[in-house]
Amino acid sequence: MNIILLGPPGAGKGTQAKRLEASRGMKQISTGDMLRAEVKAQSPIGLQVKELMEKGHFVPDPIIVQMIENRIAQPDCAGGVILDGFPRTESQAEILDSMLKEQNLKIDAVILLEVEEEALVKRLSERQHEDGSRRADDQPDVVRSRLDVYRKQTAPILPYYEQHGRLKRVDGMQDVELVGKAIDAILDQAAS
Ligand code: AMP
Repeated sequence: MNIILLGPPGAGKGTQAKRLEASRGMKQISTGDMLRAEVKAQSPIGLQVKELMEKGHFVPDPIIVQMIENRIAQPDCAGGVILDGFPRTESQAEILDSMLKEQNLKIDAVILLEVEEEALVKRLSERQHEDGSRRADDQPDVVRSRLDVYRKQTAPILPYYEQHGRLKRVDGMQDVELVGKAIDAILDQAAS
């Protein structure tokens, strides 16, 4: 089963993706995590995207699409994938559909985690890694700009999925466990 997790930065997509990896043998494909790994490794792609990411701007489509295409083709993705952070624009949503069609794959569910904006600014500003370090793009002014980019460029892809009856909404303000239960119910229904 292949799914897309949608929602603004800080909505809990990563947390829920990790849960599904553990419980359903699916693989999380997080474009943000993959890009951060490139930056950390100071690879050619990393050097190209570092500044864009620090400012909360989007990385160009060809880089993202290539990364996704390579990742989905890996054997460990055969049990299904959880797309987290992709697609983020209407053009990426269209590219994804044609990419999957070529590989005889499909998206079984598109789940939107809905969270109030003020709660997101608070959550992200307080977010820390286990080692106490912070993401460069989690400072309040960059968070606001990332939310702005989400509102302008990513929220408009919702009708694309709604049109095809594929979008399911989950209240992301609930307790993590309850959000997980709501997602499980959607996936169980999609599988039946
Ligand atoms: P995330 O961890 O999903 O919040 O992504 C962190 C940053 O990586 C974003 O602010 C963008 O700079 C970049 N990024 C991640 N996914 C994409 C995408 N699908 N398209 C463009 N840029 C992306």
